[in-house]
Amino acid sequence: MTNKDNLLQRDQDSVWHPYSSMVKAPDVFPVASASGVHIKLSDGTELIDGMASWWCAIHGYNHPLLNTAIENQLASMSHVMFGGLTHLPAVELAEKLIEISPEPLRKVFFSDSGSVAVEVALKMAIQYWASKGQADKQKMVSLRQAYHGDTLGAMAVCDPVTGMHTLFNQVLTSHYFADAPLSRFDGEWQNEDILSLQSILEQHHGEIAALILEPIVQGAGGMWFYSAEYLRQTRALCDKYNVLLIADEIATGFGRSGKLFACEHAGISPDLMCVGKALTGGYMTLAATLATKEVSDSISDDGKGVFMHGPTFMANPLASSVALASINLLLESKWQQKIKFIETELERGLATCRELSNVVDVRILGAIGVVELDTPVDMYTIPAEFVSRGVWVRPFGKLVYVMPPYIIEAAELQQLCEAIHSVVKAIAK
Ligand SMILES: *Cc1c(COP(=O)(O)O)cnc(C)c1O
Repeated sequence: MTNKDNLLQRDQDSVWHPYSSMVKAPDVFPVASASGVHIKLSDGTELIDGMASWWCAIHGYNHPLLNTAIENQLASMSHVMFGGLTHLPAVELAEKLIEISPEPLRKVFFSDSGSVAVEVALKMAIQYWASKGQADKQKMVSLRQAYHGDTLGAMAVCDPVTGMHTLFNQVLTSHYFADAPLSRFDGEWQNEDILSLQSILEQHHGEIAALILEPIVQGAGGMWFYSAEYLRQTRALCDKYNVLLIADEIATGFGRSGKLFACEHAGISPDLMCVGKALTGGYMTLAATLATKEVSDSISDDGKGVFMHGPTFMANPLASSVALASINLLLESKWQQKIKFIETELERGLATCRELSNVVDVRILGAIGVVELDTPVDMYTIPAEFVSRGVWVRPFGKLVYVMPPYIIEAAELQQLCEAIHSVVKAIAK
């Protein structure tokens, strides 16, 4: 056996995959290349990608314009430190992010991953209140079913159960958790939804620096789409109780929910906003935290205060240049129409899943489709079922979901939806 044939064994011997055991890990599939909407396995199998590599690859893989952006940048400089130095890709990207994001966001802090962008936002909120003479405001309020990342600070604002807070209880700060809103995005607003958050803010606002939430789409914590009215009311409550609003748009940013940023569904603006994932079109790891001028001025406190963070690879020029190219590519495309088209096709294609006995709910928003089952899927067998049907879909728990690259076409969407129906039907008891 050659080394290459042996790749899976070598992988199992030495490489730890996300959320997995090193002893009896489920199968992984070796990838040879990826292009457009396809992932090509090393045995030649071509898969239609339903995941956009976890929300990232919005333009598909190996895009000539994105390749060129990174190649051009590579020819002049791949990286320099950002302390005391700056460069065109970072400045242009910051300007572009400010131009396209909700109005009061005016300052950009770059980091290397979504989790770090969340940590940065939490620290900014704490420093903001300290600069106002309210150093007691250090707690956060978050929502049940929230997901904000895997580093310790970000984990502390994830759902306490799915975020495994008991395992790490000695190191995770305890924050406040409001019930997740039950009112559906497309349903009636039920005013009880706001009561849990309202009572937490009423009682504890003196020690709360910020509310952090994923606007409209709760992602990895449940793939739930909630009412825009909830966002409007949370904005009003934050203003009333002097609490900053942090919008984690890491999954939703750059068009995925049908708006460029999901906050736009409610017409509200956060005080801090985190972006990542699709920021570079899935090419490189890069994230950013955007802040209002009010937040940045206050932390900077007459020019004496400094914000206490500085990742080694912040504003990496390769990542910044491909991010700028990806945003321009998106803005120049008819992305609203494309997302609408994907939404309609997912709605049509996944409708038949509603009739299956093991399906609890089917929900679609923008270019996101979710089929919720009554029991968790078996991750030791299900991925192979999808692969054998020519698609790449990776469920978690009871959720089979897709968020394909925006370039996906009708026939490919149909194959994706048929595969989901067929796999879900096969596991119905
Ligand atoms: C993925 C994700 C994060 C974490 O981003 P990483 O780049 O994986 O650190 C944070 N918040 C949300 C909403 C996410 O979807």
